[in-house]
Amino acid sequence: MALATVTESAALRERKTGNTQHNFKKYLFLSPEFRRSRRLSSLKRSFFDSTNVRGQYDLVVVGGGIVGMASAREIQLRHRNLKIAVLEKENWLAYHQSGHNSGVIHAGIYYKPGSLKAKLCVEGLHLSYKYFDRKRIPYKKCGKLIVATNELEVERLMDLYKRGLANNVPDMQLVDADRIAEIEPYCQGLKAIWSPQTGIVDWALVTESYANDFRLADGHVYRNFHVKNFKETPTNAEYPVTVLGKSEKAVRTKFVLTCGGLQSDKLARLTGCQKSPTIVPFRGEYLLLVKGKNHMVKGNIYPVPDPRFPFLGVHFTPRMDGSVWIGPNAVLALAREGYKWNHVNPMELMQTLCNRGFLRMASKYIGFGLGEIAKSACIPLQVKEVQKFIPDITEFDVERGPSGVRAQALDDDGNLVDDFVFHFGEGNGSVAKRVLHCRNAPSPGATSSLAIAKMIADKIENEFLKSGK
Ligand SMILES: Cc1cc2nc3c(=O)[nH]c(=O)nc-3n(C[C@H](O)[C@H](O)[C@H](O)COP(=O)(O)OP(=O)(O)OC[C@H]3O[C@@H](n4cnc5c(N)ncnc54)[C@H](O)[C@@H]3O)c2cc1C
Repeated sequence: MALATVTESAALRERKTGNTQHNFKKYLFLSPEFRRSRRLSSLKRSFFDSTNVRGQYDLVVVGGGIVGMASAREIQLRHRNLKIAVLEKENWLAYHQSGHNSGVIHAGIYYKPGSLKAKLCVEGLHLSYKYFDRKRIPYKKCGKLIVATNELEVERLMDLYKRGLANNVPDMQLVDADRIAEIEPYCQGLKAIWSPQTGIVDWALVTESYANDFRLADGHVYRNFHVKNFKETPTNAEYPVTVLGKSEKAVRTKFVLTCGGLQSDKLARLTGCQKSPTIVPFRGEYLLLVKGKNHMVKGNIYPVPDPRFPFLGVHFTPRMDGSVWIGPNAVLALAREGYKWNHVNPMELMQTLCNRGFLRMASKYIGFGLGEIAKSACIPLQVKEVQKFIPDITEFDVERGPSGVRAQALDDDGNLVDDFVFHFGEGNGSVAKRVLHCRNAPSPGATSSLAIAKMIADKIENEFLKSGK
């Protein structure tokens, strides 16, 4: 009802503004260039007037994953008077990365001290547990072992431990082989980091809970709204940005936040933002322990990551439903949202293969990449990797499981962009000045979501709301 009223009054206001256009008629006797530009803008106006405008908002958030939903929720709860809408192209929230991940609540051990990831992950961990308790969202604090199985890994483990200390990871301990066996009776290793505060949760459920809070605070969520472009609203100075969707859907807004995950670079380019970082999709495939073997894994068991690669490595993760996932590996996805080998989008694949950054990265990591493809094709190869930790597991104890696609950000030189990245007000034109893009929110983005949301809300308050634009 409220939405209908806003739309109607906006239509009235626009009709009024439209009437004032008659004043311009006298200018038609001016130069042909001027007349042509007037004709174009009137065509543009009639296009905008014919679109299916769904409402007018103070802020539109593009992307109903965990980062977009957490941010919309935070801003709406801080400013109840603001009209905020979330636009999601799928029929469900958390349809991509936020609903296809390992489900781990990370404790912040891995990340470079001083980085956004280091700060926001630890903060996000504390905020998450408080939130889950308040909302009665089921989770398990089942802990995590990062296990070194040889001397080189022990050396790396010590560096990791120092990082964890620098990042204020709560309750982290170094443990020896006997303690590893106590915590995980089937696991073996020389030394490990034990993080009892690491946990598991269903991040899709958490996203839904953020969305419920948002809706209860009068936020609007539009699903099946695929944003195709952002344009200046020609006849409406109060809501100067028109967000255009498929099928001529549109909303008008004062400001925009994009949290597009795998599509984040495409959304940023729409407002003239710089090209870098570009997104290359990497599929992560999981194996499942067969039912009778789930007792072999109690908590998360991770390898010591190889610092040459961006991924944490294949790990064991218990799930909230009692199953145990092993993975993920990392193979190039043949579509941005390509969850299987046969899911190919020729246009997107071509874009990846022509991406200078990707070609440089591919030449650097060719051996690693081929190894991952081999493991994807051949289960025993993947099992061999995890037998380092749990030697009793055989290829008969696992079956193929689900997969997720990571949005891997790359710079122009093919370097993997590790930290969270946000671009604000970049690009030419008046629309660009009103947009904040979340360009890179990889793991531990879900764990960090409440902390990222606070940071984004602060930024939006300082740059948009206080500026009184
Ligand atoms: C395999 C894997 C394992 C992971 N494991 C963990 C973990 O254990 N713990 C952890 O903390 N993190 C983990 N992560 C990272 C975490 O999942 C992400 O950091 C987080 O989900 C990012 O959220 P997002 O909202 O930015 O992106 P997404 O969840 O991808 O959401 C982006 C949304 O934007 C929508 N969208 C895109 N373009 C448009 C458009 N044009 N119009 C409208 N809507 C649009 C998409 O449909 C999508 O719903 C993992 C990620 C992967 C892939």
